[in-house]
Amino acid sequence: MRALTLVADRQLVVADLPAPPAPGPGEVQIRVGAVGLNHIDVWGYRGMAFVKRKLPIVVGAEAAGEIAAVGEGVTRFKVGQKVAMYGAQTCGHCKPCQEGRDNLCENVGGLIGFHVDGFARELMNMPERLVIPVPDQVSVRDAACAPIAFSTVQHMLFDNAKLQPGETVLVHAGGSGIGTAAILMAKAIGCTVITTVGDDSKIEGVKKLGADHVINYRTDRFEHECRKITKKKGVDVVFEHVGADTFNGSLLSMKRGGRLVTCGSTSGPTTTINLMQLFQQQYKIFGSFGATIRNIEESLAKMANGILPVIDTEVTIEDVEVALKRMESRQVFGKIIVRL
Ligand SMILES: [Zn+2]
Repeated sequence: MRALTLVADRQLVVADLPAPPAPGPGEVQIRVGAVGLNHIDVWGYRGMAFVKRKLPIVVGAEAAGEIAAVGEGVTRFKVGQKVAMYGAQTCGHCKPCQEGRDNLCENVGGLIGFHVDGFARELMNMPERLVIPVPDQVSVRDAACAPIAFSTVQHMLFDNAKLQPGETVLVHAGGSGIGTAAILMAKAIGCTVITTVGDDSKIEGVKKLGADHVINYRTDRFEHECRKITKKKGVDVVFEHVGADTFNGSLLSMKRGGRLVTCGSTSGPTTTINLMQLFQQQYKIFGSFGATIRNIEESLAKMANGILPVIDTEVTIEDVEVALKRMESRQVFGKIIVRL
């Protein structure tokens, strides 16, 4: 079977690998249909000094497909059924896993497509527990945006920041894969959305998604604009993933008692913060990584109700390298999907 493998930093090769054996007890075999690209794929492609992994590794961290075969004892799935897959090898036994908080698993075997072989291959076996049914109305292409992009946003906005209808939220990089999803989900519950873009060509696109105010952070100070728009009060929630370039401005954009939730640091991982500002303003700062299986179910339910991911392009596995370079240069609006 064909698989996309990373053989060295910045070197992807389409390889011919042996197909997996028949699924074992409690396992399903999945024919992967679509893989969603995320910033974590860019990290993996560049090579991250702190990541323990053996190369070559099959890439692809987020995917959907259909059931090709079921192992002994599997009752939740039938051959041909559409499914999405959880993106980490969690144990299922520790306290967080038992409580449905797989992203806090104490014995995690690694992130799929980052530490261990990923989804960019024709067939793979997975434990039934880590596989999620996709509603009939949702395409495999769209479902491939549920396990990371949509569910990360769901976890950030609703589990961590507890975003409420009517609140004002600042969404950074509104044209990115998670930024587009955050705008759609916040608008769907009646929030006011302020979003930043790094390029005027993205303004029209984020407005079409429902953003109420758009700020080009390269030409305007977004923290000043946020205070103007909110009549000096500040926003209730900031959706952060840009990091060093925006973090302090994000704090200054918030009202007293505001909540900042972050899942990334694409512009750099280090910043300093003013602790007096932190406690006097009573800010709440949430680090968020990954999502739970329930978040993926919630994301797929939102898609079934018409909140669909914004797709930038669909590419073949031969073109993933070009696609990752476009992501690095931030010339993407929404998600890039790899078709297998
Ligand atoms: Zn666990």
